[in-house]
Amino acid sequence: MDRFYNVLIVGAGVAGLNCALHLPTGTRAAVLCKGTPDRSDSYLAQGGICRLQGSEDYQSYFDDTMRAGHCENNPAAVDCMINSSREIVDELVGMGVDFARNPDGTLAVTREGGHSRSRICFHEDCTGKEITQKLLARVEKLENVAVIPETTMLDLIVSGNECYGLIVLNNKTGEVFPVFADYTVLACGGIGGIFTHSTNFRLLTGDGLAVCLKHGVAVDNINYIQIHPTTLYTKSRAGRSFLISESVRGEGAVLLDKNYKRFTDELQPRDVVTAAIYRQMEKDKTDFVWLDMRTIPREEIISHFPSIVEKCREEGYDVFSECIPVVPAQHYFMGGIRSDLNGKTTMGRLYAVGETCCNGVHGANRLASNSLLESLLFAKRAALDITNNYSAASKKAAEEAEGKIDYGQYADPAKLLEEYKQTVKKAIKEAENVKPHFGRA
Ligand SMILES: Cc1cc2nc3c(=O)[nH]c(=O)nc-3n(C[C@H](O)[C@H](O)[C@H](O)COP(=O)(O)OP(=O)(O)OC[C@H]3O[C@@H](n4cnc5c(N)ncnc54)[C@H](O)[C@@H]3O)c2cc1C
Repeated sequence: MDRFYNVLIVGAGVAGLNCALHLPTGTRAAVLCKGTPDRSDSYLAQGGICRLQGSEDYQSYFDDTMRAGHCENNPAAVDCMINSSREIVDELVGMGVDFARNPDGTLAVTREGGHSRSRICFHEDCTGKEITQKLLARVEKLENVAVIPETTMLDLIVSGNECYGLIVLNNKTGEVFPVFADYTVLACGGIGGIFTHSTNFRLLTGDGLAVCLKHGVAVDNINYIQIHPTTLYTKSRAGRSFLISESVRGEGAVLLDKNYKRFTDELQPRDVVTAAIYRQMEKDKTDFVWLDMRTIPREEIISHFPSIVEKCREEGYDVFSECIPVVPAQHYFMGGIRSDLNGKTTMGRLYAVGETCCNGVHGANRLASNSLLESLLFAKRAALDITNNYSAASKKAAEEAEGKIDYGQYADPAKLLEEYKQTVKKAIKEAENVKPHFGRA
């Protein structure tokens, strides 16, 4: 890895990759990731990506997003996302993303909880993997961008509220060193790794949030954490919880209590369904509720949900002939590093995009399948903003800032990352008492 880039991007999920893809070819950039590039939540996305179905769909898509977010969303961010959704999906199609199609060749759409109509494009039940693989293949072909795996951001290099790059760890050699940049983009995903039960990769522990808290970069709504209603219940429950996509319920699956009776409307927003499940588990004194997929035509299950069928089979359940046990688990982070609609944070030369940031688009609760879209769009906007306002950072200021760093604090990186986790947990707890910040324009 070089010691200077024009743009340093932390994270190789859809946000980091799409940011890199929209930088001009003359801009030298590096995309770092903590593990291998396939270990991002972007790879795990099952259900799909929302796309405005036409101008007649605008108001209902807007209202669905706001209703799911308890109207604590930033309306300008929601408007921007909805109006750009067709362009983003078109770009993905242009990159070869193989979305499901209707017999006439148009994009097929499915529905999930909180949506008043079908508007979600999908690729089987592994839309995220399909999108991320295609983006990664494109980025890997770029001569101006290096994807650097097994490299962990430990800190920001800061002076006078400007970011001059990062302190990073080579996971393999243990070497800790500075990397300078004119601009730094945090695209480090969610915080599931700090929870015992989460659908997220365990390595996603909110490091971006922690370094921002450390350096006084503003964060918002960090206690807004989404619990997904349906993950597969297993007795051990160690490791990552396996998600049973909401589109399963969108296609007709129903939730049943211990006596196999329906107890809620399965297509309400996630937080409402989660609360109903918890209430039912308490009433029934059970560790899970049942999800019945037999209400979905067999052919639809086979073509749309092959990964879910396979995972359930591995766990000993045949979705075609029996119900599967499901339980809620941590899933998504609506809060994050405060960023405007171009990804700018409150620190100069520092951007934040994707799940790690909070631009208010999701309000208090994310509407299903808005996250890939939001991550892709605002990452692209950040790349364009950097490009349109580019100015080189002062080399002297960068070196002075680095010269003042006490490297002793990075002597035990594992301990430091554990401390970061505790910082994030503490901040989330404290945020319970802070008035929500929303409605920014
Ligand atoms: C099981 C599951 C299903 C989902 N289904 C959907 C869906 O159907 N539709 C939808 O819209 N959304 C869905 N989501 C949410 C969506 O996938 C994510 O919100 C989105 O992909 C986030 O993208 P991102 O690029 O911000 O982060 P991620 O894709 O999580 O990428 C984060 C990157 O940051 C890197 N990183 C983190 N910390 C560091 C560090 N300290 N140093 C270096 N690198 C670091 C990681 O290595 C990784 O490369 C789902 C999420 C999960 C978990």
